[in-house]
Amino acid sequence: MNQLMLPYYKSRSKEGQKIRHRIWYRLNKQRDIDNHKKWRKKNKQKLKQNEFNKRVQAFKKVQSTLNCVRCGCTDLRFLEFNHKNGGGYKESQQKGVNGGLYYRINYGRKTDDLELLCRPCNHIHFLEMKFGCKIPLKVIFTGDSL
Ligand SMILES: [Zn+2]
Repeated sequence: MNQLMLPYYKSRSKEGQKIRHRIWYRLNKQRDIDNHKKWRKKNKQKLKQNEFNKRVQAFKKVQSTLNCVRCGCTDLRFLEFNHKNGGGYKESQQKGVNGGLYYRINYGRKTDDLELLCRPCNHIHFLEMKFGCKIPLKVIFTGDSL
């Protein structure tokens, strides 16, 4: 007899489908993992674009003009969130998921304590927080394309 014979549930109910899927998954776990890996490898560009779109969507919720509030940089590749009062690292550690901030902003996190800064301006802000004073550095965005 076939050892992998499944009990047959001819059920359209959600519970029945759940049970069938759970059994199928136990028997085909590795195959499912391999297929998922293959799909991710094949659709790398699609996933990357999707992640970028989510990021831009979250940026728009913080600041609709999509520019650095200090230097005016508009290149989306360089923009990132800044926690005005610090604590960004701590927040990312608490939630534990890389890039989870985009998700939380898109699903209702308050954005009063956030602003958009380019990476150099964000680092200057970090140094100002660390040393507790103004840093004599200034970022100039020329607007030239790369
Ligand atoms: Zn800037």
